[in-house]
Amino acid sequence: MDKSVQKYISALVKKINNNLKNANKSAKKMDKQLDANSIDIVMPNMNEELETLMDDITPYIIATLSAGFIYGAKQARHAEAFDMSAGWVDDYLMERRAMFNTVLDDIYKTTRESLVNVLIAGGSVNQAQEIVNRVVNINGFRAERIARTESLRAINRGSHQVYMESDNVTHKQWNTTMDGKERESHGIINGEVVRVNEPFSNGLMYPLDPAGPAYEVVNCRCTHRPLKREEL
Ligand SMILES: [Zn+2]
Repeated sequence: MDKSVQKYISALVKKINNNLKNANKSAKKMDKQLDANSIDIVMPNMNEELETLMDDITPYIIATLSAGFIYGAKQARHAEAFDMSAGWVDDYLMERRAMFNTVLDDIYKTTRESLVNVLIAGGSVNQAQEIVNRVVNINGFRAERIARTESLRAINRGSHQVYMESDNVTHKQWNTTMDGKERESHGIINGEVVRVNEPFSNGLMYPLDPAGPAYEVVNCRCTHRPLKREEL
């Protein structure tokens, strides 16, 4: 998923830089200079951008949910197959869309603001393009990091769905990768067992639960596994 976001960010940089070039050409034809008034033709439409990004990454999100579901089903000996038209899949996609909307919005706003500043200062097209390269890419790294987190989140969401659905599963157990790089708070709850429909002691229903605070989820590599009645 992060590769897909990376590709999207590169395309966005190219698009804005192309718009800058074209706006500059049109301005020259009219014997004018590129200025801050051109910003609205330079910046792409934010809603269309969100559509493009979601079109790019939705297949990955669904594939990862499915992988998590299949993994969970195997562990729980759950017979149901993954159904991509299920309501919980839709809800999850809407949730992720809202999150990526915020990420894109940040990229958009910071880029627009930096561009306006360069153009007001009478900067050249080259200077403006340099700014775009830098600002979009710095924010793009953040988006890629988020996308990496998204993969493990979707895995956990998919398996959690099985644990909730399955009659075999009564409890779930938090599994932390204890390699010295784990989050301290997750080292402490490694192995914690709770009822399947209740949150773990950190308030999360599953590792990387988006309902949790950022300090509990960013870069988390934890998973969770189902416990059957006879395992308790
Ligand atoms: Zn963790």
